[in-house]
Amino acid sequence: MKKKNAARFNPRPAGGFRGYPYNITRSREKRMESLYNEEDARRFVEKYAGYPEELALRVYTSRLMGGDARLVLHGGGNTSVKLKQPTIFKEMADVIFIKASGHDMACIEPDGFTSLTLGPLRKLRRIESLSDEEMINQFSINRLSAGSPNPSVETLLHAFLPHKYVDHSHADDILILTHLQDGLSLLQEVLGPMAAVLPYAKSGLPLAKLVVEQVERRPNIDAVVISNHGIFTFAEDARTAYENMISYVNRAEVFIQEQLGVRAPIERPAPCATPKEIESMRIRCAQIIRGVCARQTADGGLQRVYVDMRTSHGMAAASYDEKVETICASGVLTPDHAVRTKNRMVYVDRLSESDEALWEIIQKSVNEFRRNYQRDIDVHGQGLHLGLDTFCFDPVLFMVAGLGLFAVGRSRKQARIAADIGERTVYAKLRAMAIGTYRSMDPSHVFEMEFWGLQRVKAESVDKSPLLGQVALVTGGGGVIGCGIADRLLAAGAAVVISDIDVRRLDTVYSILAEKYDKERIDRICFDVTDYSAVEKAFEEISVRFGGMDIIVPNAGIAHVAPIENLDPEKLDQVIAVNLKGTFTLIKAAIPILKRQRTGGNIIVISSKNVFDPGAAFGAYSASKAGAHQIAKIAALELAEIGIRVNMINPDAVFGDERVCSKLWEEVGPERMKSRGLDPEGLKEYYRGRSLLKVRVMPEHVGNAVVFFASNLTPTTGATLPVDAGNPATFSR
Ligand code: ZN
Repeated sequence: MKKKNAARFNPRPAGGFRGYPYNITRSREKRMESLYNEEDARRFVEKYAGYPEELALRVYTSRLMGGDARLVLHGGGNTSVKLKQPTIFKEMADVIFIKASGHDMACIEPDGFTSLTLGPLRKLRRIESLSDEEMINQFSINRLSAGSPNPSVETLLHAFLPHKYVDHSHADDILILTHLQDGLSLLQEVLGPMAAVLPYAKSGLPLAKLVVEQVERRPNIDAVVISNHGIFTFAEDARTAYENMISYVNRAEVFIQEQLGVRAPIERPAPCATPKEIESMRIRCAQIIRGVCARQTADGGLQRVYVDMRTSHGMAAASYDEKVETICASGVLTPDHAVRTKNRMVYVDRLSESDEALWEIIQKSVNEFRRNYQRDIDVHGQGLHLGLDTFCFDPVLFMVAGLGLFAVGRSRKQARIAADIGERTVYAKLRAMAIGTYRSMDPSHVFEMEFWGLQRVKAESVDKSPLLGQVALVTGGGGVIGCGIADRLLAAGAAVVISDIDVRRLDTVYSILAEKYDKERIDRICFDVTDYSAVEKAFEEISVRFGGMDIIVPNAGIAHVAPIENLDPEKLDQVIAVNLKGTFTLIKAAIPILKRQRTGGNIIVISSKNVFDPGAAFGAYSASKAGAHQIAKIAALELAEIGIRVNMINPDAVFGDERVCSKLWEEVGPERMKSRGLDPEGLKEYYRGRSLLKVRVMPEHVGNAVVFFASNLTPTTGATLPVDAGNPATFSR
């Protein structure tokens, strides 16, 4: 961005807005209606013929609910069904099947429900209070199958209710109305006399008792709303319970729509900067947020995060709405969200074209967030067990003026879930604020849920992989060595982007890796390492997807066999372009990103044994690799002061997975085989036998060496590690 444009990023355009500059009326979203279809229901019964029919229908309507983000998001909400099941003694027992904690209704299977004997659970109503440990113990000893997952924390509520089917959601539109001034009486009016609207109570025994007492007093009701939490509907059959849910949420939706109707959305004013400037600003912002949010861990390591950004027109406009500060400070829609998003968002009120200044602005906002969160917990979180989570004061969501919403997470999935919830929360609050006054929940209720051990298990990762939170790029990702490196980096917990110039080869390796690892941690991108602007663009794209980069592995290389006498100068240029210039372009393009993040980084150049031990007729390859090796050493000298380590790996005679082709062996193999009178298997044996250790070198061995350097296990930079099974000619001296 040019200097003169700096002021253009003013979050509030001169003159402000009249009306709403983005569509919060959801007129384009289809009105909520029942999707229940007898034919689909029958298909579920057929598909799950091995299970009771009632459970198959429970799965069907749970999926209908889970598929609509207006009702539940990412494992929120829960459903249950009560039925009779034979015991081991062939006696029939009353059993409840309840959704397991944290399971996503959108794709739930019968095994996503935990079955418990109903009698003993219902007896718990007689008990005055129940500790978390005892509640979990009761859930454990009353399970029909010891290996089934933990049931929802709202199990007792479902168990106490007399109805066969109970459905529960955290529908936005219900929550919006409960958050308004006088919202409870308003909501009662909107929903009608068959629904009970109750004040907030913590999930577990107190809430279960509150709800069942209400139902006993008013046996005709078919829904209960818990203020600032969500809605329960119930019936004797799956369809009615689900359709009651839709019908009540629909009433709230229509009411809000009518209120908003008179406030027609106006056109969004022209952006305050060019699209290119905005794009560049949001990438820099993501990288700096990522750097600021990285935290020193107890064992001296650095826990990095991934960034998920939401920068649609609507989110960008919301980010400079006059109410944005209130949106960020006003707390979650339902306490269930707090464990994913925290109770507040960071508001970054301005931007700067200078990295230094932008870092200062974001760091200041984060420090302020941490201070406020700690103060809030001191005041409202008496007796909370914060556990060992050193991240408990760290923000998850950022509204950045002029850009939109950014979410961070220790896994990419955590960041995505937080961003999804954050985005819906922002729109819901805008709608609430357009029709009334948004009242935040009592923070003590939110913290009670956020730090409730039973909730935290949903969000905490027990993953201790060494490269967790890091983003790696491996070029030449379509080849055997690239595949081996990516495999080992993934096994060590990193998110890995593989790149190649050949889409077909890249896709092959991608599918091999995607079979073995979580797809959310693997990505692919096609670009030419010899074209600097293409490299820069690819790095920007990686930052958009992950928030930044930490490990860069220049591995792309080509070979050409010809003695100098016959070496075509154009061929030499080509080999130099990929092997030498291609290493230089990657290192150069990585520097500004790694600098911005301020979290160091690792550049690991895949060099060659030929650098130390060249071969005749292999001049183009050996000389270009030697040049790349030298560039890497220079980078080690120049980048040490900002914590970036640059190391080299010298592999030799690497053969790998037959499914992945090796360009190097395609080029070199036939000539080598011919000169030595060998077939492909014989060639592999020849190289194995030639080594000191008599070991065949595999691509994964090269990958292990990359992981070693990337893990910062030793304070090493500028070093070369041979991965060649032992060759006296490559001993360093
Ligand atoms: Zn709930």
